[in-house]
Amino acid sequence: MTYRKFKADYLFTGEETAEPDSVLITTPEGIVQDIVPAAVAGSDVVYYPGWLAPGFINCHCHLELSHMRGVLPEGTGLVDFLASVMRRRKPDERKPGARPREGGAGGPAEGGASGPAGGTGMAPDVHAEMIGRAAAAAEEEMLAGGIVACGDICNTADTLPVKAAGRMHYHNFIETMGFVEAGAPARMAASKVVFDAFETVFPGRNSIVAHAPYSVSPALFKLIADHGAEYGAHHGAAQLLTIHNQETEAENEFYLTGKGDFLRLYEALGLDVSFFKGTGKRSLESILPFFHQDQRLILVHNVATTAEDLADMGSPKLPSLYFCLCPNANLYISGRLPDLDLLQRSGIPLVLGTDSLASNHQLDLLAEMKTLQQHFPQLETATLLKWATAGGAKALGIETTVGRFAKGMRPGVVSVSHLDGERLMKDSRARRLL
Ligand SMILES: [Zn+2]
Repeated sequence: MTYRKFKADYLFTGEETAEPDSVLITTPEGIVQDIVPAAVAGSDVVYYPGWLAPGFINCHCHLELSHMRGVLPEGTGLVDFLASVMRRRKPDERKPGARPREGGAGGPAEGGASGPAGGTGMAPDVHAEMIGRAAAAAEEEMLAGGIVACGDICNTADTLPVKAAGRMHYHNFIETMGFVEAGAPARMAASKVVFDAFETVFPGRNSIVAHAPYSVSPALFKLIADHGAEYGAHHGAAQLLTIHNQETEAENEFYLTGKGDFLRLYEALGLDVSFFKGTGKRSLESILPFFHQDQRLILVHNVATTAEDLADMGSPKLPSLYFCLCPNANLYISGRLPDLDLLQRSGIPLVLGTDSLASNHQLDLLAEMKTLQQHFPQLETATLLKWATAGGAKALGIETTVGRFAKGMRPGVVSVSHLDGERLMKDSRARRLL
């Protein structure tokens, strides 16, 4: 067999930077054989300037929103951003069957709008075709930029045909929402239809998850956690869940007092939430008790997460947590980034996501790393690469197949070039070699 031999200025294994002059050896298909010193690697070693790393793991995306690239204005803040997204996801334009939710099952408003589709005036078939085309192009973009696996939020089964081609590993997070308690069983039933559609094609790689603390009622949280536990028991593993967490301070205010900027969102959606008086606690503390301790929960965004939220994180009753950062989406929506020092000090593992093309200019994990290093210059490239590779793989529960250059694994090989020493620059680029 002719092996492939890769050498770079810096070889990142997924966990750490290998010794200088190390050579990665794979089969022609990319199955890792070894990492050896150049002196014993023999001939035919190919040198790539910059970093070499395993394929990247995107822990948070919404592939089905890819057709919204460049549509929504930047810097509006979360409430206006959400109102815009929901206005563009009108259920009356949805194709029955392909989009299983009906009757306004969608936004946090019970009678409100959110199923995808959107003020395009197109017939449902044309709209579905456009979503499919945009999702395929977005997937292609992710693959070219070195992403090999993706945790993808799904409100519909629109992306199923693209994913069924099997070019990338997906964990599908079927997202549900509904802030009025009485609507919880109907919301869950609607999400179960989407879940079953994915489960038929990708058994064991799907979860029903909560959208966000401000859009899910206690009754629905319980149904979600219990569905996860039941499914986890069936598959012999802890269930993988995720939620948008503390994307804005208004979320904490809403939980503490029942008031604040989110009331504008409910008003725009025609939903009366006057029954909710707040819990007197911040949002994260309010919702964590709904989850089971053997569950894994990826908290996405964490822009308004503070030391107060992290005080009791050592409790064994909590699910195991991951913080997922999507900095470019944060800058797009609100111009604010999370308190990275605080999150790092918490000891909770960090991972990376791109969020969707509705709130990002590209689905490029390296672009997320560049933004983080630019705003937090103390961050070393190796730390970012770890979050993007082995860290993300562990969060998605696929660490035995991707994320590391470990013998027998086929994690993909990515070259990161155009650097300043080992540091990323504005025009640094990631390219999938294998
Ligand atoms: Zn998101």
